[in-house]
Amino acid sequence: MELDPRTFILAVTVVASVIAVVFFIFARNFPEPIKGFRVWAIALLVGVAAAAMMGSRGVIPDAYSIVLGNALYPISIALMIAAISIFNNDLIPWKIPWLCVAIVLFGMTYSLGEENGVVIRVHVGSWTNIVLLGLAIWTLLKRLDEKQLRMGVYFTCASFTLTTVIALARIITYIGWGGGYVDLLNENSLQKVYVVSQCLNMLLVSVGFGIMGQEKLVESYYALATSDALTGLRNRRHFLNVAEQEIQRAERYQRNASLLLIDIDHFKAINDIHGPETGDNVIKDIAEVMRESFREIDIHGRYEGGKFIALLPETHRAGAEVIAERIRVVLHMRRVEYNGGEVCYGASFGIAQLQPGMSLDQLITQANHALYQAKDNGRNRVETFSVETVSSTWPEYS
Ligand code: GH3
Ligand code: MG
Repeated sequence: MELDPRTFILAVTVVASVIAVVFFIFARNFPEPIKGFRVWAIALLVGVAAAAMMGSRGVIPDAYSIVLGNALYPISIALMIAAISIFNNDLIPWKIPWLCVAIVLFGMTYSLGEENGVVIRVHVGSWTNIVLLGLAIWTLLKRLDEKQLRMGVYFTCASFTLTTVIALARIITYIGWGGGYVDLLNENSLQKVYVVSQCLNMLLVSVGFGIMGQEKLVESYYALATSDALTGLRNRRHFLNVAEQEIQRAERYQRNASLLLIDIDHFKAINDIHGPETGDNVIKDIAEVMRESFREIDIHGRYEGGKFIALLPETHRAGAEVIAERIRVVLHMRRVEYNGGEVCYGASFGIAQLQPGMSLDQLITQANHALYQAKDNGRNRVETFSVETVSSTWPEYS
């Protein structure tokens, strides 16, 4: 079956218009952190206008089909770059895109009156296109490290890259031919592949961008469901899930693990005297110390109120005591600002070491028991659970 580029362009413009409508709806429905879909939808509509102008070559005056059609295309890519930057909370790299658009506008207008106008058009169109596609790929990859789900970026990049390669192949072949006349729509050659790839790219990168939006949505809800709003640490439920897996691993391979509970001393008094905002700042301060103090493999989180928890894999009680003591000293030296003044605070620590056959619940209960002991013994200290010190109120471990 012979592919007629005009029919293809028409089909793409219809699909692209539908995707634009879908993206306008995404822009309305997605929560605040997911941005860029409105601008991408506008980019699609501009791309549709460009394709329509180019597809109407011979039907409408050349000034429209050549100059406007060719200028709208880089504007469409420039808007996609802007949408990606907005999506990533980045500054939009305006300079290169608008320079490309200006070059295309000038080059295409100039080419109209020239004998070798077609050579100018091929060069101006292709090179600016290659620069813009490259910039789009760079804008996408710049923030790759920050993303956990990356299929959307890979998909979008793959399409941009393929289109760039085809654009490069086309210009190299064109130079090889000696730069003769080309009829983009009727010539049965790489020119046709070029036109088709440019149009198809518009659809494929839009699908990729849609996946990026969906992935960001999943990431933001996952973060909401698993982290504590005040500190950003793991919330209790997430901590328990992750810790449970580590306990199973330690049990299976007979590895050490210790659990640490940290509770702010006289936190109620800090709240009562200095206000709950200061109390919140103390909580955030501890969270910062925890982030800095634990190893990558340690699993820590906010347990409840002024209480924090950490499971330390490959660590026996003596090791946990060293870490706890170090954190205790650091916390005791910390100062939290309060109405121009400073508040100091302390915390008590309870430690328990995992024993064969022990559940996470039991481990937490033992650490809690040690914590109460630390409170009983005067606070601002570290205590470790041991069977000998269990009181009669803890019959299950005596
Ligand atoms: P202790 O030394 O025995 O631990 O006494 P405490 O006053 O610290 O008592 P407890 O550990 O039971 O802490 C309870 C208080 O923690 C109650 C409340 O005032 C405070 N609190 C709990 N969650 C928050 C929070 O999110 N923000 C603030 N500002 N305070 C909280
Ligand atoms: Mg407390």
